[in-house]
Amino acid sequence: MTSTERDAIARVAEAPMLDQVQHWAAINSGTGNLPGLARMAEALGAAFGALPGALELVRPEPAESMAANGVVNAIEHGRHLHLTVRPEAPVQMLFTGHMDTVYPADHPFQDQRFLDDNRLNGPGVADMKGGLAVLLAALNVVEASPPAERIGYEVVINSDEETGSLSSAKLLARAARGKVAALTYEPALPDGTLAGARGGSGNFSIVVKGRSAHAGRNPDEGRNAIVAASAIALRLIEAKSPALSVNPAKIDGGGPNNVVPDTAVLRVNFRPQSAEEIARASAHIEAAVRDVAASHEVKVSIHGGFNRPPKPIDPGAARLFDLVKAAGADLGLSIGWRATGGVCDGNNIAAAGVPVVDTMGVRGGAIHSAEEYLLVDSLAERAALSTLTILRIAEKGRP
Ligand SMILES: [Zn+2]
Repeated sequence: MTSTERDAIARVAEAPMLDQVQHWAAINSGTGNLPGLARMAEALGAAFGALPGALELVRPEPAESMAANGVVNAIEHGRHLHLTVRPEAPVQMLFTGHMDTVYPADHPFQDQRFLDDNRLNGPGVADMKGGLAVLLAALNVVEASPPAERIGYEVVINSDEETGSLSSAKLLARAARGKVAALTYEPALPDGTLAGARGGSGNFSIVVKGRSAHAGRNPDEGRNAIVAASAIALRLIEAKSPALSVNPAKIDGGGPNNVVPDTAVLRVNFRPQSAEEIARASAHIEAAVRDVAASHEVKVSIHGGFNRPPKPIDPGAARLFDLVKAAGADLGLSIGWRATGGVCDGNNIAAAGVPVVDTMGVRGGAIHSAEEYLLVDSLAERAALSTLTILRIAEKGRP
């Protein structure tokens, strides 16, 4: 390590990361809790506003959801934090995180407690308020280091990551443009292993409109929407392959036993591992819908799409991983990575052609459950890892 690096590493450990995590995790910021998200955005704005550059809270893009009765509703989202620092600097990076959690305002899991000296249990402490504290600590230290003038960056902290980033995907794609590398602050595994390749994900709501009739008097005049939706589900799972999982998850619709149901909504999730599988799945969905609409004499409309493209490890991403691994080795950390079926904003950033390591956050576990915990000693450790990674990218001009 250079003396600049050693100085920065020594300073980053002093950042008040645990206090910040506890402060931020005390604010409920479930994806649908707009007042909570507004308070969270304000708290993050105050903290990240200490960095140089222009900070704004960006209005969410319009997004829709499909109700159980087949009606499209607008979904409200919170504003996204967007910071732009030195856009004219020769080396440009992207840092992303999310301020939302999976716990709504009325969820029983709202409080924090220490399970032991090193494990803090609380909503969002690992996913990812801990990660946001790590990012802020690293950026503050980088700003105080001489290489800062070589590097510019954007920070995007969205409010809707946990529900698919529907209202922030365009902001992320714009912010990714022209960046040499991106770091995202999802939690690492408890042993520090990072996520490598990720499959993609697509969610669809397929609305079937049939015709209702009396189940006893004139059943043949009816066109049963639930039967047609089931037929579509059976057709869709035929698309399954080792590189594509297909999960028909739910069928909404129907009513009393003596009525032929005229409306059904089929929910289905696809997990493609490549762009080719997305194309194949898309063609399969269209064919299934066309055939069932014809044979069952129903009208079918398809809503949704592949909002998380697959994230393969290409040569650029492999170089970035190597740099993070080498930085870890200099800090006495052995950094491994492993493919995962989960998705996050790293998928969208990779789709923009930018190398990304998306688990630069804290070590922790049991995320998305009331057992979620943060390993407190990972705050300083991961902040050091980020600091060294960023300083070296600034120095080399690329990963
Ligand atoms: Zn997360």
